[in-house]
Amino acid sequence: MAIASNLGFPRIGPKRELKKGVEGYWAGKIKEQELRSLGLSIRKENWLFQQKAGIVQIPSNDFSFYDHLLDTSIMVGAIPVRYRPLAHLSALDQYFAMARGYNDSAKGLAIVAAEMTKWFDTNYHYIVPEFEKDQQFSLGSTKAIDEFLEAKEMGILTTPVLPGPISFLALGKGVGFDKYNLLPSLLCVYAQVLSRLVQAGAQSIQFDEPALVFGIDKKMEAALLQAYTALSGVAKPVRISIATYFEGLGSGLESVLNLPVSCVHLDLVAASEQLEIALTKAPESLSLSLGVVDGRNIWRSDLSTAYQLVKRAVSVLGTDRVAVAPSCSLLHVPVSLDGETDLDPEVGGWLAFAREKVAEVALITRAINEGEDSVREEFAANKRIIDQKKISKKIYNQAVQKRTKEVAPAMLLRKSPHSVRKEVQAETYHLPTFPTTTIGSFPQTNAIREARAAYKSSDLSQSGYETVLRSEIEKVIRFQEEIGLDVLVHGEAERNDMVEYFGEQLSGFVFTKNGWVQSYGSRCVKPPIIFGDVARPTPMTVRWARFAQSLTKLPVKGMLTGPITILKWSFVRNDQPVRDTCLQIALAIRDEVRDLEADGIGIIQIDEPALREGLPLLRSRWPSYLSWAVDAFRLATSCVSDKTQIHTHMCYAEFNDIIESIGAMDADVISMESSRSQMELLNAFTKFKYPNEIGPGVYDIHSPRVPSKEEMVVALQQTLTVIDPKNLWVNPDCGLKTRKWEEVRPALLAMVEAAKIVRAAASKPGVS
Ligand code: GLN
Ligand code: ZN
Repeated sequence: MAIASNLGFPRIGPKRELKKGVEGYWAGKIKEQELRSLGLSIRKENWLFQQKAGIVQIPSNDFSFYDHLLDTSIMVGAIPVRYRPLAHLSALDQYFAMARGYNDSAKGLAIVAAEMTKWFDTNYHYIVPEFEKDQQFSLGSTKAIDEFLEAKEMGILTTPVLPGPISFLALGKGVGFDKYNLLPSLLCVYAQVLSRLVQAGAQSIQFDEPALVFGIDKKMEAALLQAYTALSGVAKPVRISIATYFEGLGSGLESVLNLPVSCVHLDLVAASEQLEIALTKAPESLSLSLGVVDGRNIWRSDLSTAYQLVKRAVSVLGTDRVAVAPSCSLLHVPVSLDGETDLDPEVGGWLAFAREKVAEVALITRAINEGEDSVREEFAANKRIIDQKKISKKIYNQAVQKRTKEVAPAMLLRKSPHSVRKEVQAETYHLPTFPTTTIGSFPQTNAIREARAAYKSSDLSQSGYETVLRSEIEKVIRFQEEIGLDVLVHGEAERNDMVEYFGEQLSGFVFTKNGWVQSYGSRCVKPPIIFGDVARPTPMTVRWARFAQSLTKLPVKGMLTGPITILKWSFVRNDQPVRDTCLQIALAIRDEVRDLEADGIGIIQIDEPALREGLPLLRSRWPSYLSWAVDAFRLATSCVSDKTQIHTHMCYAEFNDIIESIGAMDADVISMESSRSQMELLNAFTKFKYPNEIGPGVYDIHSPRVPSKEEMVVALQQTLTVIDPKNLWVNPDCGLKTRKWEEVRPALLAMVEAAKIVRAAASKPGVS
């Protein structure tokens, strides 16, 4: 029999119950016991659902109160020394302290959180394990065993899932030594966990080894063999499977197939070419788990295509050596379509979230085990939807398709090079040297949020809401005039989110009520869904920009979100290359840029904070991505006259390896986050001379601390060692929407003062 299998289920609960529980616990509103029973009820619901849906291999230990890598650090006792003073706290509080940092001024404790970083190329973030040179691991938690037993008590024999030892080491950080030296000690703890799981009655165990997709060198190959030889020795009669996902294993595939394990999971959505190779190379003792249902995107599967892949595998391996699965853990999709009553029914029919994907896996498996007749109706219904989607009028907009095809190289070019534009712009705006500006948003106050909520629930009329927004914008403009900023912004009060705001006004997008996915800890995001050709029916921001500009003689920047960021922070259609979708969004933004310019807005900023995070996992794919991403930005912005000044903004440092592409975007001015790693950014500019104007952030807006003007003077002077004074702008790191006015007021005032000091110093004769 082929096995219907799942790799992991979302743990936030269908209505983000976990978020509410965890945040309630942090706020002291609920007790640990209550939070723990909430966790249990989410796990139970997930297990029961999967069991009922026909999944045979049901994961456990895929639940987490914060992050599964942090759980693993705790499991193996990898707790950084700085948390030792917290031994008096409960285990749960120590765990949250690692995730979020800990402050207790009475005790004089201020301990920073562990670092968090992106989980591969998804929008999930994990807590980075930290290792010391002579780290000795020891069993620190029995979570995996406890959760297995919980399910067993319900009569469900789950497959415990653990991050595999090799990926755990690879994804952690340890400076100045070879992390593989820690493997023997780490394996001792893994072996203990494994043998307890076996004692508890586990019959199969899944080790997630996604880090293998980055490539397997000789050293890793040896470590893998060492690890899985040891673990399979402990687990003897138990099936061990290794799960790989997000990419194919490339040239490492064969060595993974030959590890002493029972099963290897391959992501056939990301890399279907692996199947044929695996079918010829898999040793006879090995089963393959086939990731044929996309675990990262929200589209209903084409069941017949997925079924054909599995059937092909069965024709070589037989049914007993095949498992059917989603491509990766379903952590990356929302829980369920139940309750999405406001969705356009046609578009809603094209979607599948975690619960629906589990059902697809079960159906494909049934087709294999019980024959095609047993699923005839379901497959026919699926085919009708898939076929109808291919010709849906909702998706295709001929005008957009035509326009995208007609994009010509000249449309990606400004009329003149930046050196010429700079002169024209200098004559137009008369800005001082080191002009000051901000990144766009000002504090989203409670008053704004309340007005928006009231407007959305129809308790406040549109005109009432807009009155609130206008007065907010006026307040922001007056404040900026008062403190002497040079280029103003309107403050973005009308936007709840920098992607949703645009998605709501573009065609080709839908929004769910409850399509949340975990981003990190208790934070969830609800990405828009791009289902069809993107067009901009009417101007999106012009009205607000015009109003803001009417209040002042100083230039006010028009504010837009760029095509790559809109793309990256949405679920994207999978029926055309993402590059084409990105170009369509770029054309829509281009229309907006043109309209802003026509309306007298002379400075326009197009934010691209997601440019870097869009980089593919494999470096070999970077050049192609960067090339179309840069083209998309240029397409969105190159339609303007030399006089119009185009700005862009990027956050999340580490620009060094893509700095040339950032230069190629040819924005007149870029503002970048840098204050958290000032030196790193400056290094980049020592090696690469950034061609246009640039404002590396002079203070960190992520912290409530108000910076002094002296420290900003120092930051600016440092910057001037690598950046031409003619090109330097002065601005904070990022938008101010998460800050309070009490912080923003003094911080910006100090920033303007700092710019004056540096300006005065630079204008003294003989001083440069
Ligand atoms: N203009 C946006 C703001 O100021 C930019 C946000 C971002 O970079 N993430 O909020
Ligand atoms: Zn930013």
